[in-house]
Amino acid sequence: MTQQSRRGVCLVISAPSGAGKSTIANALRASEPSLKHSVSVTTRSPRPGEVEGIHYHFRDIEAFRAMAEGGDLLEWAEVFGRGYGTPRSPVEEALDAGYDMVFDIDWQGHRQLREALPEDVVSLFVLPPSLEELERRLNKRASDDPAEIEKRMKAALNEISHWAEFDHTIINSDLDTAISQARSVLISARLTTRRQRNLVNVVAGFNPTR
Ligand code: 5GP
Repeated sequence: MTQQSRRGVCLVISAPSGAGKSTIANALRASEPSLKHSVSVTTRSPRPGEVEGIHYHFRDIEAFRAMAEGGDLLEWAEVFGRGYGTPRSPVEEALDAGYDMVFDIDWQGHRQLREALPEDVVSLFVLPPSLEELERRLNKRASDDPAEIEKRMKAALNEISHWAEFDHTIINSDLDTAISQARSVLISARLTTRRQRNLVNVVAGFNPTR
């Protein structure tokens, strides 16, 4: 059954780790019931509290490769030496049914998803207020040891170097502001004329081609 008469939006949110991307994505999902989260496949191990099928699909490298080679992933990349990828069929099903989807993926995934779904992707990059603040936030994460923090800081700088490839940029100095800005991006993506065509036709009886 079609949820509504428009195709869903793919909202890609990327950021260096520590910029607040997951918090923003979770807040958006809490307030937007029709927003589904794309659950990625990864070869990394679950962290404490992470649940199979909710946070990730945790797979071994063989299963991951089989998915990639079989065309079951819309995009995939190596991040921190581990495989990460987006399963294809849940995305296609959700978009066809009119559900919007949020993707927490890196810049490599964004590039590939744009190519795979050029009509559907709207993207958002979340920047921390400063590099000092980013380092402070990474240091506060108890689960990461110092070597891991240094590795993540390097990776963060690499991720940040791609910010200009995204449609929208948010500087997360105040979380509530960042969340409402992200919500505005989603709402405006839903309202593009291309997306509204069917809906205008159905609701108002207009023929938009005239
Ligand atoms: P973490 O291991 O901290 O959950 O995620 C590490 C990085 O991998 C994050 O930057 C996250 O956005 C990225 N990532 C998670 N899932 C995917 C995916 O399916 N594809 C790509 N390209 N990156 C992903």
